[in-house]
Amino acid sequence: MMVSIHAAVGIGTSLLFRKKAADKPEKKIYIILLACNVALHGIMDLIPHSHPLPSYVDIGIALSMPTFLISFAFMKKLKRIDVILMLSGYTGGLLPDIIDLGVFRVLGLGAFKFFPWHYI
Ligand SMILES: [Zn+2]
Repeated sequence: MMVSIHAAVGIGTSLLFRKKAADKPEKKIYIILLACNVALHGIMDLIPHSHPLPSYVDIGIALSMPTFLISFAFMKKLKRIDVILMLSGYTGGLLPDIIDLGVFRVLGLGAFKFFPWHYI
């Protein structure tokens, strides 16, 4: 699945946790959101898909999303807790690709995958 789609789903799912985080802000909400987005990443990678954009465009779009979120926070359009929630979902959505397709490739371990859905 495209990285920008994982990032957008990560940010979008954070809206489901917004009320819970506002009522009772605890760190475990961010960890649960991150874990949910790692699982969603696996489900989305298993669904048959294509990559219509070149990878540099896809990665560029994905990397620009936190910039917009943080700029909205500075403009007071978003609350700080919402931005932290969205960044947590964003990180969870991208984490499997960062580890398997980024870190392991840089370390020369491109054949090894931590997340099993990347073998398929
Ligand atoms: Zn992936």
